[in-house]
Amino acid sequence: MNKELNNLASSGGSTTLMPVLFVGHGSPMNAIVENDFVQNWRSLGKTLPKPKAILCISAHWETRGTFVTAMPKPQTIHDFGGFPKALFDVQYPAPGSPEFAKETKRIVSKTNVGLDEKWGLDHGAWSVIKNIYPLADVPVFEMSLDYYQSPQNHYDLAKELSSLREKGVLIIGSGNIVHNLGMVAWDKVNEPEYGYDWAIQANDTFKRLILANNHKELINFSALGKEVQLAIPTPEHYLPLIYALALKKENEPVTIFNDKAVMGSLTMTSVKIG
Ligand code: ZN
Repeated sequence: MNKELNNLASSGGSTTLMPVLFVGHGSPMNAIVENDFVQNWRSLGKTLPKPKAILCISAHWETRGTFVTAMPKPQTIHDFGGFPKALFDVQYPAPGSPEFAKETKRIVSKTNVGLDEKWGLDHGAWSVIKNIYPLADVPVFEMSLDYYQSPQNHYDLAKELSSLREKGVLIIGSGNIVHNLGMVAWDKVNEPEYGYDWAIQANDTFKRLILANNHKELINFSALGKEVQLAIPTPEHYLPLIYALALKKENEPVTIFNDKAVMGSLTMTSVKIG
């Protein structure tokens, strides 16, 4: 506790500790449609303290090594196919934050963080953030997921980002904790909320462990049984949750929202910390 107070005192600026989010992003169409998920994102924008910048760890930027976007004007990347033109027409012109990108590189000591000038904002970032901050007036930068690192390494890296919260940076992990595109229930795709039994069981397991602060078991997710293995065929949509959890301070409240299954094999379950 004393350490926390000292950190706050030495940050020199804002004394507000920014919350941390893990957001289930689901279909890119959430950028332009109206539903309960989007409405909850919008109300976050009205209730969260206004951040100085947003750092997004998106499932859709995997790299060899770890990078942060450092350009002043990140492009809107339409990293998907088979969607209507209206989705490809979306631009989210939020500025980048070269300053916080450099600060991130500076504060992370165990991992070399590269400054990236080429990426931008993928739909894991903009489809969600566009709804939280529709005016695009908060600078946004991304951190990539190094696909050579273990879940434990990702967790340890995320812990090193902690001081950004004290400097007014809203950290958002964007993925889906249950995400198996190979098993989407295409026959039920028009039912707004449908989840296979295994998807709901895996989702319940994740929620129980999140609320119990059992990060150890969440990091070692491959030992959580066959439902969880089906939920995480590849880890990129799950790892952003690990980043958010690593940033939780002792005794901080955890709120679950958008806790619904969609398309059989995905859940939108999201977490607010702080
Ligand atoms: Zn995705």
